[in-house]
Amino acid sequence: MRFPLLPALVLTIVSCGGTPSSYSVMIDGFTPEQASTVVEACRIWEHAVADPSRLRLFVNIGEPCDLSHDDAICVFPTTMAKIAEANGAERFGVTYHRLHDVQPQGTIDPMGSVIYVATDTGDVKQTSEHELGHALGLVHTGPGTVMAPYVQEAARNVTPADVGQFMKVHGYE
Ligand SMILES: [Zn+2]
Repeated sequence: MRFPLLPALVLTIVSCGGTPSSYSVMIDGFTPEQASTVVEACRIWEHAVADPSRLRLFVNIGEPCDLSHDDAICVFPTTMAKIAEANGAERFGVTYHRLHDVQPQGTIDPMGSVIYVATDTGDVKQTSEHELGHALGLVHTGPGTVMAPYVQEAARNVTPADVGQFMKVHGYE
């Protein structure tokens, strides 16, 4: 059985408003060990991009999720069963990206991204790296990248190709 890392629930790619270079990552509900794994995934992304002017992830553990800004990323734990219940498929993680882009006009909607990482199976670090990629505006790419849609084909860490997509999406190349 192939377990997709993530549903194609990247609701939108990058809107014309551009993308932030720094984000507030609010991690809540995880065990301390799991939370530090999510933090590690953030640091891996920062290290891979290797330019703080292009990517900074300000991490807050246990801070209530505030999605009023488009630089907000909230990360919560879940289970594969709950993701399956909500999305009809077994996945390790899911990201709801920039929901405001698809909400009806006139409502006050979240602007940031919400990530759910299944902690009962899979690889929390790999899943977090993948889902953070979606929150940063990235789409699925081929085998050998962390943004590959299937766990078996996905890189364990952010690759140069993933960084390349980040640079493109964020308008750096
Ligand atoms: Zn995905």
